[in-house]
Amino acid sequence: MKELKNQLYINGEWRPASDGGTFQVLDPATEKVITNVASGTVDDAMLCLKAAEDAFPLWASKSPRERGEILRKAFELITEKLDIISNLITLENGKGASDAIGEARYAAEFFRWYAEEAVRSEGHLGMAPSTGARVLVHQKPAGISVLVTPWNYPAAMGARKIGPALAAGCPVIIKPASETPLTMLALMPILEKAGVPPGVVNVLPSRSSGSVVGAILRDRRTKVVSFTGSTEVGRQILHAAADNVIKPAMELGGNAPFIVCEDANLEAAADGLMVAKMRNLGEACTAANRIYVHENVELEFVERFIKKMAKLKMGNGSDASIDVGPLVNAETRDKVDYFVRDAVSKGAKINLGGKKPEGKGFFYPPTVLTNVPDSADCLSDEIFGPVAAIQTFNSEMEIIERANNTEYGLVAYVYTTDLKRGMNISENLEFGMIGLNRGLVSDPAAPFGGVKQSGLGREGSKEGMLEFQETQYISTEW
Ligand code: NAP
Ligand code: MG
Repeated sequence: MKELKNQLYINGEWRPASDGGTFQVLDPATEKVITNVASGTVDDAMLCLKAAEDAFPLWASKSPRERGEILRKAFELITEKLDIISNLITLENGKGASDAIGEARYAAEFFRWYAEEAVRSEGHLGMAPSTGARVLVHQKPAGISVLVTPWNYPAAMGARKIGPALAAGCPVIIKPASETPLTMLALMPILEKAGVPPGVVNVLPSRSSGSVVGAILRDRRTKVVSFTGSTEVGRQILHAAADNVIKPAMELGGNAPFIVCEDANLEAAADGLMVAKMRNLGEACTAANRIYVHENVELEFVERFIKKMAKLKMGNGSDASIDVGPLVNAETRDKVDYFVRDAVSKGAKINLGGKKPEGKGFFYPPTVLTNVPDSADCLSDEIFGPVAAIQTFNSEMEIIERANNTEYGLVAYVYTTDLKRGMNISENLEFGMIGLNRGLVSDPAAPFGGVKQSGLGREGSKEGMLEFQETQYISTEW
């Protein structure tokens, strides 16, 4: 593939790792090596910081309109290359073509949205009530930002950070996930063509993520760390950021409840669950993890849902007719398999799927479990795979309490035709985002993020840009 880039991208140049080290990136459908990618070192991290430091004044002094136009151009160029980017996403992550194209579009949208937000950064002017001094408030770029991203959305998780950082005037260093660094690297020639100057965006793949990111966080030039990944690693990064008082934005794990009330439109709810569970094969922090169906409608709902799940075709995601590609790696697949065996050993019933296939590729079939007991591990941990674990409930009060009974608070889904009930449940759920009669909440125009152990801060919308800005207030009188 002509677009395959496998080196570090620092100051607008491609280079090997300072110690010559590389790591393998696999195609999860075949388990074959796609390429070896340069593995950045602490020395390379220092080169990134130097490049970002040098690029910062020029980038920050560009007019918001200029930055906006460059982001707009990036949106257009990515949209032109949607096929190439989505093929690369499938190749390194495994997800099927429609998921991959969906992701590439979603990633492009963050460039469009932040092209528009770049020119809408507002401040305010007021008068101090007791002194009459003027209070003048504006936003400044926070400075060098390090962006650490996961493998489940190789393009979109980075784009959701690069867009607002660049709009705000910040240079960035991106550490993509080692399973999937190729898509982010492939975006660099596109950003270059769009007019992003050297040093404003640097990409540092590395197998030594802890030491490389740690070194960047110990450096006084670093001002923001934006992380998407597991809660466990997020906590480590927060500890490291604390020593230097670096501004953190954390998008961490989830354990989303999906609630189907007795009065729900069951067909719409089953369609919604197909999206909330199966988008990205369930490898999403937003994936429906605990499915609660009112006991009076469980049979009918499960029947409708199984019909839809049974239609999905599993295979190599590079074939456009495939719905379900492989999971990203053996570890993720084996964990999904463990969750199913654990639930079954505790009394759950397999209605569909539930068997790890033989042969090459990290495949796992769409699976539906009912009668899942509270003790099943898949209810307290993220499944991160195509397994729907269904339980029942019988009262509104009860379901709010059960849904909230988790350390996570990213997203919850509620299906009901009674708006009053829907709003009551939604407002009482301790989650950053609610899909009310919707199986998908992600949108560049909406603030994405969680409460409790699911994170700090928001991405997308106006809020996303504030993560890369510092408020300055000037007190004056005239
Ligand atoms: P992960 O292990 O936390 O890794 C995420 C990123 O952090 C990768 O780039 C990884 O690099 C890097 N990393 C690992 N250890 C590090 C350390 N000690 N210091 C600095 N960086 C480190 O997560 P994952 O396994 O890639 O992704 C799955 C998790 O992400 C799930 O828990 C999921 O819920 C969460 N997630 C959350 C959101 C959200 O928006 N809330 C979105 C997507 C995923 P290496 O690849 O080199 O290890
Ligand atoms: Mg990992």
